[in-house]
Amino acid sequence: MVRRLGGVTDAPDFPVRVRPEVAALPPYKQGKQAGAEAFKLSSNENPFDPLPGVLGRVQAATALNRYPDATAARLRERLGERYGVGADGVHIGAGSVSILAQLVQATAGPGDEVMYAWRSFEAYPWLAVVAGANAVQVPLAAGARHDLDAMAAAVTDRTRAIIVCSPNNPTGPIVTQAEFDAFIAEVPSDILVILDEAYAEFVTDPDAVHGETVLASGAHPNVVVLRTFSKAYGLAGLRVGYAVGHPRILDAARSTAIPLSVTAFGEEAALASLEVEEELLERVGVIADRRDRLAAALREAGWDVPVAQGNFVWLPAGDETLAIAGAFEEAGLIVRPFAGDGIRISVGEEESVDKVLRIAASVVKDLPEGHAGRGLA
Ligand SMILES: *Cc1c(COP(=O)(O)O)cnc(C)c1O
Repeated sequence: MVRRLGGVTDAPDFPVRVRPEVAALPPYKQGKQAGAEAFKLSSNENPFDPLPGVLGRVQAATALNRYPDATAARLRERLGERYGVGADGVHIGAGSVSILAQLVQATAGPGDEVMYAWRSFEAYPWLAVVAGANAVQVPLAAGARHDLDAMAAAVTDRTRAIIVCSPNNPTGPIVTQAEFDAFIAEVPSDILVILDEAYAEFVTDPDAVHGETVLASGAHPNVVVLRTFSKAYGLAGLRVGYAVGHPRILDAARSTAIPLSVTAFGEEAALASLEVEEELLERVGVIADRRDRLAAALREAGWDVPVAQGNFVWLPAGDETLAIAGAFEEAGLIVRPFAGDGIRISVGEEESVDKVLRIAASVVKDLPEGHAGRGLA
């Protein structure tokens, strides 16, 4: 007997019937690939070569004909020790974006709500839509910071997942530990709260929320912390991210995962990177210093740059965004414009900094009087 499971709906412009909410999504646009002469400052990548020992370990992992270890057990074990949670409290994904998708799918379906601040990471709206859930976007407060009071107030009985991004991509500010603690005390304990700390290693503000602190308290099993090897560790090309949290929540994520997505090479590179912590911290320090220098100089030039705690800075270019991004591009600087809102510029090679400053200082002068991008300087 023919059995029909689930339905299909109509969407125009496609040769087949596609879910209308999926059809309505804009096609994915990656940060532009840079030409040989250009600096690619559009994807918050790390400008450094892989950490010492990493390439050798990846090259030695030659079993191309074998499937990887499905749960990346060695890496889970290692991270479990680091976070004091045991391997069951760690879940590895092909990038933490894939874990975000798993967690959203595991918790939210049609009619449910997935909440996050906006503007924030561009993947969040897409995650909600693909799960068939409704996205609830809570506007950032002054200073381009999370408005956690407004987020707590926006919780309904359909809320299933809340994503808090600290530091916030693309605007830069962190959520403080005190703000997060107050927020989590307000949110019903059966709602998943995802603390997305993709840029945690670059944070220098001592008041910032730390996933470790939240996990160590043990008081909030509904919080899952997300970290990645893509940014500070410079392994974006190998796709490794992880979640730390309650084993049963991570089981649910695993149930929605595409099996065997994390490669042996990714796992090996992550393990090797964890063994050279000192070199990592040194590089992260260099980037954080470069970021502070860049942000300060941009403010000096007249830009109203929000607090920058990731490896990027934000120019609130508003309606001038695309024109200004074009000016950067002409100068060989590939940046990430968000039309009508602003421009995110990654902290890249040292040689890119002066170039960024030169263009930024020249275009800020052309901003109309009263434009939000202008600082008080
Ligand atoms: C870069 C980023 C991630 C993770 O990227 P992966 O490469 O998939 O690990 C997650 N969240 C935010 C906010 C990011 O900017």
